[in-house]
Amino acid sequence: MIRIGIGHDTHRLEAGDTLTIGGVSIPHEKGFVAHSDGDVLLHALIDAVVGALGWGDIGEWFPDTDPQHKGADSKQLTSEVMRKVQTEGWVVGNIDAIIFAQQPKLSIYKEEMEQQLAKLTSIEPGQVNVKAKTGEKVGPVGREEAISAQVAVLMVRE
Ligand SMILES: [Zn+2]
Repeated sequence: MIRIGIGHDTHRLEAGDTLTIGGVSIPHEKGFVAHSDGDVLLHALIDAVVGALGWGDIGEWFPDTDPQHKGADSKQLTSEVMRKVQTEGWVVGNIDAIIFAQQPKLSIYKEEMEQQLAKLTSIEPGQVNVKAKTGEKVGPVGREEAISAQVAVLMVRE
């Protein structure tokens, strides 16, 4: 059986020193405004995976009203979802992702993000593709007010 899922996430930026995207820490003069670490790529991935399997959305899994998730490491949230995925006999077929960020330039981090996503979902880096786009200097992304991510995932069960 195969199932397809999509995920989307946006976080606002404010003054800071680090961005965490796809589990990779990136030095930047802005950081995410978020209840957790604001990792848009992992949040979109979680939404894609739980969406594919009909398991609701990330807000139901990890309510932002729950103090337990304050400042949460999104890698741990991803691992928690993946534990249930494995328990239920599913595996990830492939992941295709887009990050929308005007700054910083993410091309040098894409490979590391692919490795992180592969590790977190127990697949090979060759099954993960991360793309980065700017906001063409318009809209919230283009004005560097926010960073977004979209993820499509294929889930497979023998
Ligand atoms: Zn988020």
